[in-house]
Amino acid sequence: MLLIRTLYADMYTEELITLSKAIDIQMESAAEEIKALLAYPDEELISIIKEVGFKCDLCARCCTQEFNDHVFLLDEDLKAIRETDPDAIEPAPYYELCDQHGNFYVSGYALKTQKDGSCIFLHDKRCTIYDRRPFICRLYPYMLHLEADEKGNIGWRQISGLDLHGCYHDDISDEECKTLAREIKNYEHAFLEQKVAFLEKARQHFEKNKLKHVQGVYDREMRKFNKGGKIKVFVFYSGAFEESSVGNNISL
Ligand code: SF4
Repeated sequence: MLLIRTLYADMYTEELITLSKAIDIQMESAAEEIKALLAYPDEELISIIKEVGFKCDLCARCCTQEFNDHVFLLDEDLKAIRETDPDAIEPAPYYELCDQHGNFYVSGYALKTQKDGSCIFLHDKRCTIYDRRPFICRLYPYMLHLEADEKGNIGWRQISGLDLHGCYHDDISDEECKTLAREIKNYEHAFLEQKVAFLEKARQHFEKNKLKHVQGVYDREMRKFNKGGKIKVFVFYSGAFEESSVGNNISL
C-alpha cells in the first residue's frame, strides 16, 4: 500500500541529475517491475495464498493508519468513492515533486482518516462501504510487489502484517485462490501503470510550464504544512492534474 518515495529524495545522494533523468530512472524501474510482475508464476502466488489461508477476524486493525499508513486509490476506485462521498478523499501522502513556486505533485488520492487514524469509512469496526470498498481493501493482506528487506536485498513481498492480525490456515478453495492471484496481479499492474502515467504527465507539465523540482522548497513548504499551514497539491487523476488545497490533514 505504500507509494514511491519523493522522486528526488533518494537520488541526490550520488549525483545531481535533471528532473527528466530522474523521471526516466523511475519509469524504467516501474517498467522492469511490470515485466517481472507479469512473469511471476501464478502457481507460486496461488500456493502462497493457499498456504497462508488468511481469514479476517474483524479486528479492523488493517483499516487504521497505524497499521497500514494509507489507502491509495486507483483511478477506478476514485470514481466509486466520489459517488459515495466526494469529501472522503485527499491527496495521497508522500508527494513526489515540488516546483519552485511551492506546488506539490502526487500520483493519486487516498482515503481520509478519522482523528484516531482509522479509515473514514470505518465505524464500530465495520466497513460502511464494504460492497464498494477500494481494490486494495478487497485483496488485503495479499500483495505482490518488490521491496527491500532489512539487509537491503530486493525481493517479492506477497503478504502484509503476517501473524500480526487475523487468523491463518483457513481453507480457501482453489478457485478462490486463483481469482485472488489474478486480481492481485491486476491491481499491482494498474498501480504501476498509474505511476508511469503520472511520471510522464509530470514531465510534460514541468517542461511546458518551465518548472523545476526544488528540494529546498519542498522541505520548506512541508515544514510550514507540519505547523498547520496550507499547501497546494496537484493530484494525478485520469491523465490530468486536479488542484487541491490541503491544510494540516484537512482537504479544503
Ligand atoms: S474502505 Fe473499508 S475496508 Fe477499506 S480501509 Fe476503509 S473501512 Fe477498511
